[in-house]
Amino acid sequence: MARVYNFSAGPAVLPEEVLKEAAAEMLDYKGSGMSVMEMSHRSKVYDNIIKEAEADLRELMNIPDNYKVLFLQGGASQQFAMIPMNLMKNGVADYIVTGQWAKKAYQEACMYGKANKIASSEDKTFSYIPDCSDLPISEDADYVYICENNTIYGTKFKTLPNTKGKTLVSDVSSCFLSEPVDVTKYGVIYGGVQKNIGPAGVVIVIIREDLISEDVLPGTPTMLRYKVHADADSLYNTPPCYGIYICGKVFKWIKSMGGLQAMKELNEKKAQILYDFLDNSKLFKGTVRKEDRSLMNVPFVTGDADLDAKFVKEAKAAGFENLKGHRSVGGMRASIYNAMPIEGVEALVAFMQKFEEENLK
Ligand SMILES: *Cc1c(COP(=O)(O)O)cnc(C)c1O
Repeated sequence: MARVYNFSAGPAVLPEEVLKEAAAEMLDYKGSGMSVMEMSHRSKVYDNIIKEAEADLRELMNIPDNYKVLFLQGGASQQFAMIPMNLMKNGVADYIVTGQWAKKAYQEACMYGKANKIASSEDKTFSYIPDCSDLPISEDADYVYICENNTIYGTKFKTLPNTKGKTLVSDVSSCFLSEPVDVTKYGVIYGGVQKNIGPAGVVIVIIREDLISEDVLPGTPTMLRYKVHADADSLYNTPPCYGIYICGKVFKWIKSMGGLQAMKELNEKKAQILYDFLDNSKLFKGTVRKEDRSLMNVPFVTGDADLDAKFVKEAKAAGFENLKGHRSVGGMRASIYNAMPIEGVEALVAFMQKFEEENLK
């Protein structure tokens, strides 16, 4: 069995230790005589799994007591609707559009109320983060929405927008647990876990308690009400049990690695290896403004579509998988999430170096 270096944007690489542990527990979870996939979500043994996962996440992110942690289904995309349905009390929200995911969230919100696009970087193919220090925030905005790390374009908010006192809602799908965060700056932090934490099918929502209420838009389905899930500690219906169990293991792995500060330092080190190479390469170049570069998703191009395709093909043959850029931008993208070992990035750079020597005209 040979494992590849998997640079997929998501679903993405998971820590090998976690996969091995899950494999070892597959047939008999801690003497229960069954797999976690087979057990009741109302059982004592499963209750311990979900409670421990929540406790570990709270510890890692230093989540204050007045925030709820919800483990939900429907992916990040379902939150595009759930957020306006639950939070648009005045029917108004401001969106900062820095990529496809933010754009989709904005378009979805337009179906439920008055969504204002108050800033965008679409004029330059989302290759930068706009200045958000003094935006025209709406007087009656219920929240200001951002996508904090733009998975497809490889940009990241290094400073949060000045929301002028309005609630900040952030999609952190592709930077979840990649560095320390100050939860108190947000009303809602949410993300699909398949980028940096676990298997697809789980979305984690961290939401300040005062934002949870029965006062939601008319017609909001029961399953899309934060209050229903918060009141039931994420066990209103059957949660994505196995996915949550894997997330819990990843939380423990991050703790064993030294927590979010250590994760950040490792991620900076990995990203720097790749960005330094791109900055000095005569063949490859990065596609986003330097100060807005993501630590997680690194897009790059040669400037020649045929050469890009040749690179992706040869890289795959050499054991570097999923380097093709998103279909909307082309080129290449290396996603180097928490679980990508530094050796994977070093090996990729060595391969790019060799490719450059062989292909530079
Ligand atoms: C992948 C991704 C999504 C969509 O996630 P789904 O779980 O497929 O709905 C949303 N936002 C960001 C930032 C993403 O990276």
